[in-house]
Amino acid sequence: GVRIGVLAVQGDVREHIRTIESLGGTATAVRRPSELEGIDGIIIPGGESTTIDKLTRAFDLAEPLRARILGGLPAYGSCAGMIMLADVIADPSTDRQGNPQQTLGGLDIVVRRNAFGRQRESFETDLAFTGLADTAGAGGNDPVRAVFIRAPWVEKVGPSVEVLAEVPAPETPPPGGSSDGGPEKSGAVARIVAVRSGNLLATSFHPEVTGERRVHELFIRMIRGEA
Ligand code: GLN
Repeated sequence: GVRIGVLAVQGDVREHIRTIESLGGTATAVRRPSELEGIDGIIIPGGESTTIDKLTRAFDLAEPLRARILGGLPAYGSCAGMIMLADVIADPSTDRQGNPQQTLGGLDIVVRRNAFGRQRESFETDLAFTGLADTAGAGGNDPVRAVFIRAPWVEKVGPSVEVLAEVPAPETPPPGGSSDGGPEKSGAVARIVAVRSGNLLATSFHPEVTGERRVHELFIRMIRGEA
């Protein structure tokens, strides 16, 4: 079976471990560089990307992890994990010294943090998702129940990046128009919330908290070279 590391410096580590184990995989928490050895893939959980960034660097995990990902280690990031896999953050946070948060990178995307704005800070919706199989107990074409918690969206994708899911444009703009965060943050456009590029997969939402297993199942098939 596959052995998947879950970056365990902060965030919803347990939910990812549970989901992988329920699919018959082995999941191990990764807190130190030596724990990167022998894994076939890495999951970067949801949480707070600034904290995950700081602790990953403090634990000397950032450089070896970056190197492994560059070398082809399959990686899946949910929410804050998507931010960590992005090459560019549109609106990075800066620390007290004025240094912007960093990412591991690998995915040729620009993400915007907390992008859905105040009125929709957290929400759930059903999404069409490309490439899921029906081997995890739900039909491959059934929508994914997606939970968004102060979620990012993908603002730009490079040519190597495949869009797997979008939140459709709202049928009517929210009342007051820009009141939920400015014209950039509302408006009638679909928003990209799941992407894949080669061995890298990322979602703005948290399949690990709803019992949804097909996204992790897709990641396992990517690791096996079956998807
Ligand atoms: N807003 C968080 C961040 O910027 C992500 C939230 C999440 O992972 N649920 O890191």
